[in-house]
Amino acid sequence: MAQNSELKRAFQAFRREIEYCSYCPKLCRFACPVAQIEHSETVTPTGKMTLLRLVRDRVLPFDADSADVFYRCTGCLISRTYCEHRIEVMPVLEAARAEAVARGVAPARAMQALETWQKQGNPFGEDLSAIVRNHVPEKYLDGSAEVLLFPGCTALHYHPANLEAIVRVLEALHVDFRVLHQGRICCGNPIHTLGHRETFATHSRELMARLAGWKTIVSPCPTCVYYLKEVYARTGLKPAGEVLHISEYVAARLSELSVREPVEKKIIYHDPCHLGRYLGVYDPPRLILEKATGQQPLEFYEHREAGTCCGGGGGVPLTHPQTARAIGQNKMQDFARSGAELLATACPMCQRMLDRSGREQGAVVEDVIALLAQSLGPQG
Ligand code: SF4
Ligand code: SF4
Repeated sequence: MAQNSELKRAFQAFRREIEYCSYCPKLCRFACPVAQIEHSETVTPTGKMTLLRLVRDRVLPFDADSADVFYRCTGCLISRTYCEHRIEVMPVLEAARAEAVARGVAPARAMQALETWQKQGNPFGEDLSAIVRNHVPEKYLDGSAEVLLFPGCTALHYHPANLEAIVRVLEALHVDFRVLHQGRICCGNPIHTLGHRETFATHSRELMARLAGWKTIVSPCPTCVYYLKEVYARTGLKPAGEVLHISEYVAARLSELSVREPVEKKIIYHDPCHLGRYLGVYDPPRLILEKATGQQPLEFYEHREAGTCCGGGGGVPLTHPQTARAIGQNKMQDFARSGAELLATACPMCQRMLDRSGREQGAVVEDVIALLAQSLGPQG
């Protein structure tokens, strides 16, 4: 099949990445969670980029087999940590995924995801507005305020109780806020990363118009923050206000909070890829845990920029669920060896993946804001 101009543009834009990675002696191979689990050279960062080069040079066809490999990346960005050239593999693979969708050769689950997303504007096909209304007092739903809380689809679907914890903390800080509860409450990452570019473009324009006028937007989801701040900007869309992860917003005001019931557990912190490597937010969640417990959290051997993945990114839980789950189980084995009683994180997808992977061993996984809310004690 002839290469269309879109694909040619992508090959041109990512020429440096494709050349460097495909001729690299696999310097980041050891760190790639997908390669670790699948024990395959094809899915190493070098392997995936070499395949893309061979497709570009028409040595191999762009068919369902090659497309499947482009979907074997969680976008964890840990390859960049060990890369002399600071190369990011995921944007290149996402361009290839978009082409796979356009050609109809993407994995079936990636193709079907669009249909589910279009039902309600989120990957779960769920009425997320109803979830917000069930967990947030009515006075925080409509009208204007200083701060808009953008809950994000994953947090609402998997951890609606976390929303109550955020409300509890924002109330304790006397923040003037509202919670987005109408329309599509999704940043669009699930469709963007799976390759549905046209739908994402329409959605991102519509969402940006709805967010116009808000001075500060906070979200418990690092992926939402990264998309609203960085990915939208690549297409010329920029929210007028500041976009922050909830941990950044709250950590800056911790001195205003009084802890009445410190959480008495030995806690270890897991750095979410989108919060840490993508947004560079490492200290705020740790400061929140220190406030909630009175002590610094324990650290995984690999943490901050070297923190390992939960398996939840890049649509891998949808397209290659066994790989995603095994990556999460690896992390929970590290947790079991850590001596900690509880794993805390600051991302709804990490919480979901690690909670599910650690359930059999009785592991407890919590969000940092939920722990902070707990430490504040009952309201009043
Ligand atoms: S990301 Fe860097 S280290 Fe990894 S394969 Fe590419 S060039 Fe090599
Ligand atoms: S971003 Fe993560 S999963 Fe993807 S190739 Fe790099 S190390 Fe592997």
